Amino acid sequence: MMYDVKGNLKQVLANLPQGVRLVAISKYHPNEYIEAAYEEGQRIFGESHEQELRQKHASLPSDIEWHFIGHLQTNKVKYIAPYVSMIEAVDSLKLLKEIDKQAAKQERVIDVLLELHIAEEETKYGLTPDACRQLLADGEWRSLSHVRICGLMMMASYVDDEAQIRSEFRIAKNLFDEVKATYFADAPYFKERSWGMSHDYPLAVEEGSTMVRVGTTIFGPRVY
Ligand SMILES: *Cc1c(COP(=O)(O)O)cnc(C)c1O
Repeated sequence: MMYDVKGNLKQVLANLPQGVRLVAISKYHPNEYIEAAYEEGQRIFGESHEQELRQKHASLPSDIEWHFIGHLQTNKVKYIAPYVSMIEAVDSLKLLKEIDKQAAKQERVIDVLLELHIAEEETKYGLTPDACRQLLADGEWRSLSHVRICGLMMMASYVDDEAQIRSEFRIAKNLFDEVKATYFADAPYFKERSWGMSHDYPLAVEEGSTMVRVGTTIFGPRVY
């Protein structure tokens, strides 16, 4: 029997204050789950693999806004550039430049977030706060007219310790405020703080998230 996608979605939405948007993370879940959420009015979905996104984009309603949330290899950018709504996990200037190039070919501007690496866990991905500062201070991004940096994205450590999770969200929020004041004070589109997943999105919302990325709580456990 199908997971109660509609009921779960309603519950998550009921927990979100005004102004916080939900990205329903549908990776590894079948189209019928996405369609159930769509019927409830959900329009923003997040995927982390290019091929899976390609298939879903081709077979699901065209007004879905697809966010790419995973690590994106530069050689895959061209496949999603025609239709992706936001690329959330930009963690290098090289990737940013490739997105700009492919967006230019499509004669469009692609919204992106810079991915921070704050969690203690070892991962190859994401910019440390200092690397994020460095990328922005370097200034080359200013010449990229086909990408629009709309904010920051991060994943907190996967732990039970609420204090630790909160402190990581706060580091991200402080960096957001710093970057906003330094580079984007006059850019109303720089406003997104994408943090909060199934296990920590209520905390994330308390700590200033504007966009939560929730999968398991809505669609159930992923079958890999
Ligand atoms: C899978 C994933 C999520 C959703 O995780 P859940 O625990 O299923 O809510 C959020 N963000 C990123 C970057 C992910 O890869």
